[in-house]
Amino acid sequence: MAGGDTAGDATAARREAAGSEAAEILEALAMIADDPMLLEDAQSRAREGMGAPHALDAAFTQHREALAALGGYLAERAADLDDLKHRAVAFALGLPMPGLPAPGHPYILVAADLSPADTAGLGPDVLALVTERGGPTSHTAILARGRGLPAVVACPGILDVPDGTVVRVDGGTGEVAIGLTEEQAHEVRAGERAERARLAASSGPGRTKDGHPVKLLLNIGSADDLRPGAEGVGLFRTEFLFLDRTTAPSYGEQVDAYAEVFSRAETVIVRTLDAGTDKPLPFLGLPAEPNPALGVRGLRVDRLLPDVLDTQLDAIAEAARKTGAEAWVMAPMVTTEAEAAAFARRARARGVTRVGAMVEVPAAALRAGRLLREVDFLSIGTNDLAQYTFAADRQHSALADLLDPRQPALLELVAMCAAAGREAGKPVGVCGEAAGDPLLAPLLVGLGVTSLSMAAVCVPAVREALADLTLAQCQERAAQALA
Ligand code: PEP
Ligand code: MG
Repeated sequence: MAGGDTAGDATAARREAAGSEAAEILEALAMIADDPMLLEDAQSRAREGMGAPHALDAAFTQHREALAALGGYLAERAADLDDLKHRAVAFALGLPMPGLPAPGHPYILVAADLSPADTAGLGPDVLALVTERGGPTSHTAILARGRGLPAVVACPGILDVPDGTVVRVDGGTGEVAIGLTEEQAHEVRAGERAERARLAASSGPGRTKDGHPVKLLLNIGSADDLRPGAEGVGLFRTEFLFLDRTTAPSYGEQVDAYAEVFSRAETVIVRTLDAGTDKPLPFLGLPAEPNPALGVRGLRVDRLLPDVLDTQLDAIAEAARKTGAEAWVMAPMVTTEAEAAAFARRARARGVTRVGAMVEVPAAALRAGRLLREVDFLSIGTNDLAQYTFAADRQHSALADLLDPRQPALLELVAMCAAAGREAGKPVGVCGEAAGDPLLAPLLVGLGVTSLSMAAVCVPAVREALADLTLAQCQERAAQALA
């Protein structure tokens, strides 16, 4: 199936040009395109007399339905098959590859949705992107944020805007202003340049106007994401190192990956593998589930595969010894204090000096004080905490209002964790996307969190937002938001 092979090859070629996170997603797509079952299906349809474009179309459609029926991550990847299908069919028809427009000047890209492959391949002429569908933690949003590209997702009606309209996209507030005059556009561009220059000049530790310290930390998926200007790493998503791996990473490979980060950053909070739902790790071979977000994911994987956690904890401790770093390690999706206690015992027995738990499940927030009897720190994952508090899929574009971290119920849970931290004299940070929002960061500080961890691109604006307000003003904003 020349068309299928070519779609896979083209995807693999784009993978070369992409960053590590993007490369992992493209790797998965290349694997899907190379699936021998897909090839055989298209070939047998062609042998039965179907033209190549129709044979490809039918085989891809059949394959898409089969993937969708499996549920979980594979079902989410089913949509990506459409991108591959269009490329394969275009090849079979001798037409140019479908894809992004190339108007020959910088532009704002508007789309119904954008495949991970297209997002990863966006050139420097794309100034911003707006999609009709998607959630703020969809692959498109994650990839855009990683590149520092302004993006607004879940923007209904955007496809009705005529081509050539002058549009302003504010990825910070999610606002899209349509139909600017040339004069207004000129002002926006000048303001933008001045803003970037001011933010780029910002440096130093996180502080409120009156000097209250709030650590500004980085969320990373590998050493490639490290940037200067932050006070350490608040969330090292180790599963990002191994997404789409079909064989388990060896102990030595893990030691090297962790040591590389430890040797280049001050304090690093490593999160143990957070597998499941949108982040499956194929090498774990976990069974498909009807309700993966509520199933065996995060720390719960340890119930089935305890060796995986033990090996990872050993590798983290060894990397810390090799580099002289202090290993801070936390587990994802901790739900009960018994889980926190068991995790802390295991980690300490292996030489981890600082053990933490993520608060991503309301049950954990409600019992934050009890959790802090077992662990040394808490890190609040507002992405999942919102998903589980509001019973709203975090990737669902139609439920963005429920997933908004400004929701008082979510803030209340954050406040409970912060109060428990104060009482125990232990750090409680936020590492969900909310921490990187300069409008929300002061609120979170006002609620009492001690650190904020975010994508590197978010650090300057958050630093500036905190420096603008006293702690009392942050607390006032927090009280207003809760009310
Ligand atoms: C979170 O849930 O807020 C979080 C930081 O973890 P992830 O986004 O990786 O699920
Ligand atoms: Mg999470």
